[in-house]
Amino acid sequence: MTKIVLLGPPGSGKGTQAKKLQECLNVVHISVGDLLREAVAAKTAAGNAAAEFMAAGKLVPDEISIALTNARLAQADCKEGFLLDGYPRNLAQAEALQNILRKLSYTLDAVLYIEVPIESIIERLSGRRSCKNCGAVYHVKFAPPKKEGICDCCGQVLVLRKDDVPEVIRTRFNVYCEQTEPLVAFYRQQGLLKEIDGSRNVDEIFDSIKKALGIK
Ligand code: AMP
Repeated sequence: MTKIVLLGPPGSGKGTQAKKLQECLNVVHISVGDLLREAVAAKTAAGNAAAEFMAAGKLVPDEISIALTNARLAQADCKEGFLLDGYPRNLAQAEALQNILRKLSYTLDAVLYIEVPIESIIERLSGRRSCKNCGAVYHVKFAPPKKEGICDCCGQVLVLRKDDVPEVIRTRFNVYCEQTEPLVAFYRQQGLLKEIDGSRNVDEIFDSIKKALGIK
């Protein structure tokens, strides 16, 4: 199983698990949130159009996220497999994904649905710190860096994402419930859904993901 979607609310640990799984399966990790943040930083037309939606915790318009993801999936390195993190986030994107996969003659192997209780989400996200330089992600309580505020990997200063503040977290969670959660039923119906209890620690979650995917 190498062509996988990671589904779950913000703060469920999709990115953390995708990084671990990427090493294990040796496939590409595509974080659509990262692609969008890169586009914003590079001030591309798509980035400029996406910025205000992201700052508010809303989904950027479908044409932007679909075009960005389709272009990334069409690159040759996705042929051996990919972990799609943060996409699809609504039914229109799920249908667009089916179309591009059909066009590329790829089949989706599994959708990992990482569930976490709502109460954990604000604590997880507001304590998250990331390195703008190398992308490493920490948590002030659950996964602190060796030196407070400094990245273990490259020594740069760690930052709080602008959308990881309580007010925006609440909007992101509401957007998830209204637009993304219906995909659980969509993928369950297709027999692709693997439900993972995301309330435990990182290694325990990873163990159950490996089990669900049949990885030794
Ligand atoms: P993430 O890093 O996955 O938490 O995404 C951060 C923000 O990027 C989201 O709150 C949205 O504004 C935007 N975003 C990421 N993925 C998508 C997507 N598939 N569709 C629309 N907006 C997205």
